[in-house]
Amino acid sequence: MATHLKSHELFNRARSVIPGGVNSPVRAFKAVGGTPPFMVSGKGPYLTDADGNTYVDLICSWGPLILGHAHPAVVEALAKAAAQGTSYGAPTEAEVELAEEIVSRTPVEKVRLVNSGTEATMSAIRLARGATGRAKVVKFAGNYHGHVDALLAAAGSGVATFALPDSPGVTGASAADTIVLPYNDIAAVEAAFAEAGDEIACVIAEACPANMGVVPPRDGFNAKLREITARHGALLILDEVLTGFRVSPSGWYGLEGVAPDLMTFGKVMGGGLPAAAFGGRADLMDQLSPEGSVYQAGTLSGNPLATAAGLATLRNATPEVYAHIDAAAARVSAAVSEALTAEGVPHRIQHGGNLFTVFFTDTEVVDFDGARAQNTARYAAFFQAMLEQGVYLPPAAFEAWFFSAAHDDAALDRVVSALPAAAKAAA
Ligand code: PLP
Repeated sequence: MATHLKSHELFNRARSVIPGGVNSPVRAFKAVGGTPPFMVSGKGPYLTDADGNTYVDLICSWGPLILGHAHPAVVEALAKAAAQGTSYGAPTEAEVELAEEIVSRTPVEKVRLVNSGTEATMSAIRLARGATGRAKVVKFAGNYHGHVDALLAAAGSGVATFALPDSPGVTGASAADTIVLPYNDIAAVEAAFAEAGDEIACVIAEACPANMGVVPPRDGFNAKLREITARHGALLILDEVLTGFRVSPSGWYGLEGVAPDLMTFGKVMGGGLPAAAFGGRADLMDQLSPEGSVYQAGTLSGNPLATAAGLATLRNATPEVYAHIDAAAARVSAAVSEALTAEGVPHRIQHGGNLFTVFFTDTEVVDFDGARAQNTARYAAFFQAMLEQGVYLPPAAFEAWFFSAAHDDAALDRVVSALPAAAKAAA
């Protein structure tokens, strides 16, 4: 039995100075129970905690680490950048290179760099409102776009995990212009536009939702959003903070090819450091300050360490890296299904490219209601049994599993061999 004494001590210390002991709610293990291991290092596919336990990491920092932990090229780029100074508050060539990299892989013509996915979606919405002169924003239940006030309505991720449909502190006024619709329901979108089409600035959707668990868009759903928004003079924002540069070199766009007006990126493009971006057509992006009048700014935006880590990550994310991640996800998801089937546990594995979620339910999940109908107690039991065997899964049922190029056969064998006992625990 692994010991967790140091993590217990650290969690107690943390709770006296940090709310819930964590700096992002889902890390606290509230949904699955127990004490979160406090990590001290990561190498390739593995994390090591303060008590010396190692885990195969299937979270990868919630998406960014497609090359695994401490990839030599990323570490080297960071060390080099740090030796030259940590922040200048002035433009750099690396920012231009990162913007060029993003523009070359996606349909956006211009991007602005920010520090988090939350900032990216917040800024994209401000730009959409500024450009259209309209106030209302359509979002989908179970889609998570960060903790932007106006978007914390029926959101996924931690909000789903803790069953908070909204958050105290989000005023009625800031949510009043948000229209929340059921995901994958085009009739609902048509109806919302029939009623308020000329007041809607934009529709924002995860390009392939993964924050209520993976719930891919039905065939043609994103294309239909494209068509309806264009017809009504509203903008379409596809949020690729999670899928961007992870499910293919150009994200979900590379798999489906629907070009929105604005896109948001984060996670992989920062290689594990805080970097994110929003981008779109040049005529829209040029409405941002200083060319235009829509204000948006950031002290650390385009930070040299973040751009160095992001560029090193994207430049080393070769087609082989994506092929490896796809194969690793396919192998493990098939093994999960086999183990759960052997124990007679109802489940449904849903894929969005190389992202997948194991839903403990027996019906297809197409929306937030479906996701919330799963048996989260079974997930918690499954999670704990995997953790005990050294596999670090997302500590909540409403998340995707993440792989990296560093997840080699040895790491994947460890995951697969842990599955029968976890399936038994979930039975
Ligand atoms: N959008 C999506 C699709 C996300 O998955 C997330 C974070 O998980 C965000 C936005 C918010 O990003 P951040 O946590 O960097 O603010």
